[in-house]
Amino acid sequence: MTEQTVVKRSRITRSRSSSTVSTFTETAEGDIIVTTTTNAKTTRRESFSYRALAKFHELPIWQRDNDKILSGYVKETNSFTRCFKSLFYFHNESINVYSHLIPSIIYIAMAMFCFDKLCIKVFPSTSLYDYVFINIFLLGCATCLMFSGCFHCLKQHSEAQSILWSKIDYLGIIVLISCSMISVIYYGYFDHPDMMWSFITMVLVLGTICSLVVTNDTFNQQHWKPVRATFFVMFALSGLIPMLFGIIKFGYLEVLNRICLKFIWLETIFYLLGAIIYGCKLPESILHPGTVDLLGNSHQMFHCMVVLGSICHCKAVIESYNLLHRRFTS
Ligand SMILES: [Zn+2]
Repeated sequence: MTEQTVVKRSRITRSRSSSTVSTFTETAEGDIIVTTTTNAKTTRRESFSYRALAKFHELPIWQRDNDKILSGYVKETNSFTRCFKSLFYFHNESINVYSHLIPSIIYIAMAMFCFDKLCIKVFPSTSLYDYVFINIFLLGCATCLMFSGCFHCLKQHSEAQSILWSKIDYLGIIVLISCSMISVIYYGYFDHPDMMWSFITMVLVLGTICSLVVTNDTFNQQHWKPVRATFFVMFALSGLIPMLFGIIKFGYLEVLNRICLKFIWLETIFYLLGAIIYGCKLPESILHPGTVDLLGNSHQMFHCMVVLGSICHCKAVIESYNLLHRRFTS
C-alpha cells in the first residue's frame, strides 16, 4: 500500500517503523513529497501478534499459577478489547471460559423462557413460591457460571483485574452454594415454615460472612489462602445441618423423598471429585509436562464436575417439586 503527501520542509519529522518505508522527493517549489509504503505482510503480522501464546516461564510472576501447564497462555494484555478478542482463538483458558459461559447462558434462557413450560408440570397446587425457589436456583447457577467465565476471560488483563475477578469468581461460588441450599430447604421444610425460614436465614448469614472473608484482601495473601478455603468448606458443609436435622425429625426415607436425596448425593460426589482433581492437579501432575496444556487439565475437569453437579441439583429440585405436588393432588 503506497501513499503520497506533500508537506513543507519545516514539518518533516523522521520516524522509524518496521512496517512502513518513507522516501522524500523535493519539488521545484521547495515542498517535499513524502511517499509512504506500508508493508502489508508486516502489518498483518502485527495485527495478529496479540494472538501469540506464551510459555509458563515467559509469564509475569503474578500470572504464574499452575507450573504443570507449560504453554498456551495469553500473556498480560492490559486491554479489555484484547481479552474479549481472546474468545475467538484457542488458548489454555478457552475451555475454562466456554465450559461455564455456555451453561450459564442456557440456565438464564431456561429461567427466562422455557423452563416453566417445558420442564415443570403444572399442578393445581403449584404456587408462586415454586417458581420463585426454582428460579432462585437457576439464576444462582447462571450467576456462578457467568462470573467464572468472565474471570477466565479477563484474568489475563492485569494483576489488579485478575485479583478483582478472582474475588468475583469466589462470590459466584458462594451464590451457587446459597441458592442450591435455599431451594432444597424450601422443599425439605415446605410444611414447617418456621424451620424453613430459620435455615434460609442461617444460609444467608453464613453466605454473607463467607463473602466478607473472600473479598477481604488479607485472605488473598498466600499464607491466608488455606483459611479462606476452610471457610468455603465449612460453608458448603453447613448444608448438612438442615439435612441431618430433617433426617432426625422426619426419618431418612421421608427426606429421601422430600428432597430427592439420591441426586443430592450424586451432586456431592461430582463436587468432591472436582475438588480432589483440582486440589491434586490431576492429570497434569502425573503426565509428561505439556501433555494437557490445552485440553484435559485439572481446572477444565473441575469446571465439568461443577456443571454436572449443578445439573444433578436441578434434577433434584424438579423431582422434589413433582413429588410434593403429587402428594397434594393424590
Ligand atoms: Zn475456574
